[in-house]
Amino acid sequence: MAQYIFVTGGVVSSLGKGLSSASLAYLLQSRGYKVRLRKLDPYLNVDPGTMSPFQHGEVYVTDDGSETDLDLGHYERFSGVSAKKSDNITTGKIYNDVLRKERKGEYLGKTVQVIPHITDRIKEFIKNDTSKEDFVICEIGGIVGDIESLPFVEAIRQFSNDIGKKNALFIHLTLVPYLKASDEIKTKPTQHSVKELRSIGIQPDIIICRSERPIPLEHRKKISLFCNVDIKNVIETIDVKTIYEAPISFFNQKLDVQVLNYFKIKSKKPANLKPWKKITKIILQNKKQVNIAIIGKYVELKDAYKSLDEALTHGGIENNIKVNLVRIDSEKLKVSEIKNKLKNVSGILIPGGFGKRGTEGKIEAIKHARKNKIPFLGICYGMQMAIIEFARNQLKIKKATSSEFDKSGVHIIGLMHEWEKGGRKVKGTDKDLGGTMRLGSYDAILKDKSKIRDIYKSTLIKERHRHRYEVDISYKEKFEKKGLIFSGLSPDHKLPEIIELKNHPWFIGVQFHPEFKSRPLNPHPLFSSFIKAAKNHR
Ligand code: GLN
Repeated sequence: MAQYIFVTGGVVSSLGKGLSSASLAYLLQSRGYKVRLRKLDPYLNVDPGTMSPFQHGEVYVTDDGSETDLDLGHYERFSGVSAKKSDNITTGKIYNDVLRKERKGEYLGKTVQVIPHITDRIKEFIKNDTSKEDFVICEIGGIVGDIESLPFVEAIRQFSNDIGKKNALFIHLTLVPYLKASDEIKTKPTQHSVKELRSIGIQPDIIICRSERPIPLEHRKKISLFCNVDIKNVIETIDVKTIYEAPISFFNQKLDVQVLNYFKIKSKKPANLKPWKKITKIILQNKKQVNIAIIGKYVELKDAYKSLDEALTHGGIENNIKVNLVRIDSEKLKVSEIKNKLKNVSGILIPGGFGKRGTEGKIEAIKHARKNKIPFLGICYGMQMAIIEFARNQLKIKKATSSEFDKSGVHIIGLMHEWEKGGRKVKGTDKDLGGTMRLGSYDAILKDKSKIRDIYKSTLIKERHRHRYEVDISYKEKFEKKGLIFSGLSPDHKLPEIIELKNHPWFIGVQFHPEFKSRPLNPHPLFSSFIKAAKNHR
């Protein structure tokens, strides 16, 4: 049976529970163990699919087509293990399940309650779809003390009791603030947070203390004493300069060793930190730099394009160059400013997006990239905008548009009500917004002698999708005659998956999201090639 590690947070949110969990997963894996990571989110949405990126940051898509919390992206990037639908659970999903069962009369006349029915369902989810893992790390979203997280905290308490305390470890991540005015480090918030956790029956086994500066031994001793945790298990985590330093930092703090000690498990081999040291060096010490513009609607929120930012950085790692991201708000981008704003960039990227706002700025920026032969990558919505730009300016279809945001005009981009997956027809709909898009991994066949075929070095690729609209294949010939080729298609040749310009050094649009599959230790070829082209641009 797997050993379970539960990670809770205290004092404030955004302390890096996801990154800590992901780093721990890497370290345990590197010591020879099989690890699975899961996220338990206390909000009422069934999944984050319908939430605005302004609210919740990026929506991360898994191979099996679920829309999940962005922490699953960290998990994949650090552990290299592809996440699944069963790895992200929300209160909404749990209640949905329980209420559906109730309506079917499956509770046999009983009163349905948070305890035991909701907590039982949470416990089932925690165990569901696991078998050969040595460790399952479950991160609980939010912080202890929130009303919403209570059923989850109660469920993990019961769970540890069910499987035996020696098989379950509780890690609590808290903030240890530094007060500038009095030049002091404060342990009281941590003490209070642990008190809160204990009041619901959980005694943490390890406390990870997030701090701006090193925590003196005397303060760690205080935390150990008041929180009843062995001093060796009071682990500090100081702000790192790049997230790739996190596994190194937790290794230095012996987090993995303490976890193994708790379970009385020996390390199978030494942890390998070499790859992280190498990429940290490239990122922090590289003098060579390249500027890439990201033109999107949500650029003001740091987490809205999390995987994309990461994938570009990975492309930089592969090319031994630091990538500077120049974020441009498409809604504020005036046509007259485009030339000036894009003056110092060597690559232009239009990411995924929804709705009409900001489209005209994006289309103009694409025209600028096409005409001035600046490397361009359009992702999903970005590819759709590139199609519209080309149709308007090269095919002279002045009213070319997408039915997503313009009900009149010529719909080169439109709604597909049906598409094929593994020979099975899947219905799409524009009625229910949640979970009704073309989601998850789909195959694409790459055209011989195309740029994309050179980049992937393969004829068949699998990439993750998240969209409702498609480029109308019936325009293929018209586009190709003018030099924009459809170099990747769905296996049935009905859906354009990739477009590229013939007479351009690097101009590619993809209907999928390659960023979800890029990993720091295994950068995605499309991003490596894009950054290489940008590097050569100047
Ligand atoms: N809004 C577009 C669609 O639904 C693109 C989505 C995206 O960029 N992920 O097709």
